[in-house]
This record gives sequence, structure tokens and C-alpha cells, in this order.
Amino acid sequence: MNAGAEDAVARPALTAPAGIADLPPDTRAALVDGLEAIYRDLAADVARVGPVCIRRGVCCDFEKQDYVLYATTVELLYLSLHVDLRGVAVAGKRCPFWIGGLCGRHEVRPLGCRVYFCDPRYVPFSQDIYNRHHRKLQELGDRLGIPYEYAPFLSLLERWSGAAKGVRLAHTQP
Ligand code: SF4
Repeated sequence: MNAGAEDAVARPALTAPAGIADLPPDTRAALVDGLEAIYRDLAADVARVGPVCIRRGVCCDFEKQDYVLYATTVELLYLSLHVDLRGVAVAGKRCPFWIGGLCGRHEVRPLGCRVYFCDPRYVPFSQDIYNRHHRKLQELGDRLGIPYEYAPFLSLLERWSGAAKGVRLAHTQP
């Protein structure tokens, strides 16, 4: 799931999340609409290849799998609209949303989760699908003036859930 890392252009990293509460309502709505459209297009691209999921429940176990899941700022903003990140504890390399072998945030999971399947017939297509939609995430953020960051999902979650460390959460009113 580190696919697309080479696609990320060098831009200033955020030290704290840009608050979605700081975004004008129309920008927030455009973020939700734009991101959900990207996820729909992505699902259609994946469906065209038709990978088989045999639900072994191991694809989110980063400790056992040889990959790092990356995510972008716009995806964390979207996630923060649906999940109170203050309650999210990141421990080790395990995704905190992975519960009992299943994703507890399936509807709002990031691109890297959506594109990953272990079906060997699908694997040769995944990088291209990832890159195409990752570019769209960048373009969406640029269009909306949302600073871009592309980093390991768990480290982003850890940082964004750090209310106790003074990081203002995306859904927190100023
Ligand atoms: S967000 Fe869901 S699909 Fe993605 S790694 Fe975590 S548990 Fe797995």
C-alpha cells in the first residue's frame, strides 16, 4: 500500500491538520462531494478488473504484511468528519480501525485501503489505479486550497488524534 509514493510531489508538510471547521461550508461540501466522486470512480476502476476478496482478514495487518498504508490530507479531513479522532489510539503498526479481522470504518477508509487486494490477477493493475486516483486527490486539495500532505496513515492518525498535545481537530469548532 505504499503505491504512489513516487507520485507525491515535494510540498511543505503540515505540522498540524488544517481544520475542516475552518473551511467555509461550501468548501467543506465540495471536499465531501469531490472525494466521494473520486472513491466512486475508483470503485468502478477496481470493479472493471474484478479482484476476488477471499476475506482472510489479513490485509490490514501491517505487522504481517510487507507494506505501509499512506494517506493524504483531504482523506484525513474526510475521515475526521465521520470519526472522532480524539478517541483513536494508535499502538504499534496495527490500524486502530481493524477490529476482529474487519474494517470498522469501511465507508470512509482511504484510497490505499480501497485499492488493495491480494488477488494476484489484480496486482499488476493496482499501481496504475492507485496513481490515477492519488493524482485526483492532489488536484482536489489544490482546487480547494487544502495544504497537501502524503504520509503513513498511522502516523497521520497519531498526529491528528493528538488533541492532548494541542493539535486542533478537524471537526473542532474554533
Ligand atoms: S482503515 Fe480499514 S481497511 Fe484501512 S487499514 Fe484500517 S481497518 Fe484496514
